[in-house]
Amino acid sequence: MSAAAVPSLDEAVCARIDARMRALRLPGALGRYRELASDLGADDRALRLLDGVLAAEIDSRELHRFQNNLRAARFPVVKEIGSFDFTAIPNLAMDRVQELATGRFIAAHESVILIGNPGTGKTHVLIGLGMAAIRAGFRVRFVTAAALVHELLLARSELRVPKLLRQYGLFDLVLVDELGYVPFNQEAAQLLFTFFADRYETRATALTTNLPFAQWSRVFGDETMTVALLDRLTHRSHVLLFNGESYRVRESKRRAAGSVPDNRLGSTEQSR
Ligand code: ADP
Ligand code: MG
Repeated sequence: MSAAAVPSLDEAVCARIDARMRALRLPGALGRYRELASDLGADDRALRLLDGVLAAEIDSRELHRFQNNLRAARFPVVKEIGSFDFTAIPNLAMDRVQELATGRFIAAHESVILIGNPGTGKTHVLIGLGMAAIRAGFRVRFVTAAALVHELLLARSELRVPKLLRQYGLFDLVLVDELGYVPFNQEAAQLLFTFFADRYETRATALTTNLPFAQWSRVFGDETMTVALLDRLTHRSHVLLFNGESYRVRESKRRAAGSVPDNRLGSTEQSR
């Protein structure tokens, strides 16, 4: 009836305005604007103005959300998946990383584990996945394992571990960098276990480590707890192996070798 009563309104523009008003949660305006437009004898230009104003508000809100989420993530540096050179890690499939960058694993509350030697680009990909997640609208937080352990120990001494877990629980994705570089004492290992167990199947977590799984008990101290931790972390997880030499070492060798393509560098040349 209402559409028939205002035949002059461009339905395609109105449909866009409806959708934008719903996205902006403006039910009062949505219920009234057609009637107002027809009362005022509004033409298509007036409607397009309204549509443009709403689009500008949506853009501005999205930009603010992105900027706020980027600040909240506390990345030490910004890295993008797009600037990662996949030829450096031939066993790392670009399409697997790109699939993770869609953020589906975050919605599914899965984990990602990036394992490899120092300098192979794990932190780069970790932050790149975080950037992609923020663009997809997720809330992300980056923390090093050492800083996380410090926060957990402090919270324990102040009897507010549950509060700290709730604060981390607000993030759809927590990125834990450099697990395994520093060994923990028993209390720290238990707290870290509590942290991962708390997120298990309810929130997504991604972590980097230099340690193959077989060596995790060395860092966590306790074999039984390590098994329980690995059980939770590796269940519904995506494991990315970064087997290769340090990217910077590789790059400086490449520069030193001039224009010689990488696959022409024999092992004797590399050791020089
Ligand atoms: P890791 O965390 O494995 O120790 P990083 O991610 O910190 O390694 O990488 C070290 C430096 O080299 C960073 O500046 C990173 O951006 C760069 N880097 C490493 N691997 C690559 C790659 N394959 N393509 C582009 N840059 C890379
Ligand atoms: Mg790193």
